[in-house]
Amino acid sequence: MNSTVTSAVKVAATYALFATLWILFSDLAVETLLPNSQMRAVAQTYKGLAFVVITAGLLLAMVLKGNNALEKANDMDSLTGLHSMTMFVRTLNLTIRQLKPNEQLILGYLDIDDFKRINDAIGFDKADAFLQDLAQALNQALLPGSFASRLHADQFASFAKITGEYDMDEHMQDIQRLYNRLSKDYGIESTCCISIALYPQDGSTAKELMVSATEALNVAKEKKNAIQYHDKTLTEKALQRRQMMLDLRNAIDNDVLSVVYQPKYDLKTLNVNGVEVLVRWNHPSKGFIAPDVFIPLAEKHGLTGEISKLVISKVAKELSSTDLLGSKIKTIAVNVSAAEFNDSDEMHELVRYIQAQKAIAPFVSIEITETATLDNLNNSVELISSLQKCGIAISIDDFGTGYTSLAMLKDLTVDEIKIDRSYISEVDSDDRSKTIVSAIIAMTNSFGINLVAEGVETETQLKILQEMGCQQAQGYYLGRPMPLQQLVEHLA
Ligand code: C2E
Ligand code: CA
Ligand code: CA
Repeated sequence: MNSTVTSAVKVAATYALFATLWILFSDLAVETLLPNSQMRAVAQTYKGLAFVVITAGLLLAMVLKGNNALEKANDMDSLTGLHSMTMFVRTLNLTIRQLKPNEQLILGYLDIDDFKRINDAIGFDKADAFLQDLAQALNQALLPGSFASRLHADQFASFAKITGEYDMDEHMQDIQRLYNRLSKDYGIESTCCISIALYPQDGSTAKELMVSATEALNVAKEKKNAIQYHDKTLTEKALQRRQMMLDLRNAIDNDVLSVVYQPKYDLKTLNVNGVEVLVRWNHPSKGFIAPDVFIPLAEKHGLTGEISKLVISKVAKELSSTDLLGSKIKTIAVNVSAAEFNDSDEMHELVRYIQAQKAIAPFVSIEITETATLDNLNNSVELISSLQKCGIAISIDDFGTGYTSLAMLKDLTVDEIKIDRSYISEVDSDDRSKTIVSAIIAMTNSFGINLVAEGVETETQLKILQEMGCQQAQGYYLGRPMPLQQLVEHLA
């Protein structure tokens, strides 16, 4: 009999029993309990009403209790006590909606290979006990805070937020080993498959994630006794990136980032007249990580503003402890990433921050990569001129790498251009590069824009640039990026 019919029969039987007892004994009760005839008359009048109120209350209580039990039964897998599939999907959806932007979630499926064989080998009752024990063992082996469910007869699922460092491969192998041990305890040689899907890379809703996990499971089932990631390389990379992002967050909070200075030289005198500030990250286990690697990550997670301020405050502290400002160092160039430049509020905040560092403010200029300005030329024109009004010189970095470098110069009034290293490295070997550099020199001269050649690595390159009349240069040949102490010695 299904549960709805059972409940209805219970309600009807209770009603019938209560009504019969009432008919048989209510008069007798009134006679015995109430000695006074006046009171009996009143009781007789209201007896029917009392019956209606009591039965209504009784039936209501029964129906509510039945509903609760029904809901509980729907939320739970009756065999294992794990959550039901309905509950699992509902909670997965809810959890995804409540995730913070940087949080990740792992969804894992475990499916027993050839479950029918187990049923045949040890019988249904023992197989049920095996599933119950497996559910318990899984619950203990899963990540803390996991939400586990039995989706089908021999298929389990769980999801959890990934927090902190987590070796996924190792964990999945542990679960497989646990399965193998348990099956041995039951005297069966059985294996299982595990599949993994990660939020957000393998799906942005519960449904998409579950489809990804199922797809991966199908691949695993073909092999048996296998662990299959929805896309292993993708997910591994995503985990590494996430770990690096957490490490970077830590590095910012614990003041691990540092700065180095690369001198900029006047090509007529070969004197230093300014420095470019470059950020450095010495990772505790990975060593130095290049800004080319972590700045894009910082951009993705909105950390560039913090990094820029950190760089500025370090430079202010370090350089104001020397007597170089205004004498040997007339410009301090800081780099601003594309994402930061394209957020004009953030740029203005940065400028306010620079202005507050009174010792260095008059010397600071900002380097923006050419491609960043090209992303939104109209906005760039406005932003650059408003930054210049605040007294900040603007330099276009990596000039020549964009598709419309020249068109850009028509619209933007910048203070400096830095020819990209790729042209300078060929200036002594490739005539076309040399011609381009020479054209840029002529053009910036007639515009009255300062010009810097980046990445000078040889004496020949230096000589050619000097002969062509380039104003300034930077590069390993002249001076590598260096910490403050070395810069002080270099300039002495
Ligand atoms: P960039 O602004 O073009 O900086 C020049 C890069 O070229 C630096 O690499 C510098 O060390 C390197 N370099 C200088 N001279 C030579 C040379 O002669 N030969 C060669 N092969 N390389 C040379 P670094 O420090 O690894 O920085 C890479 C990029 O990371 C920078 O390119 C810049 O875009 C970004 N970056 C560095 N520091 C910061 C920062 O504080 N904030 C932001 N937003 N980005 C930064
Ligand atoms: Ca630069
Ligand atoms: Ca550059």
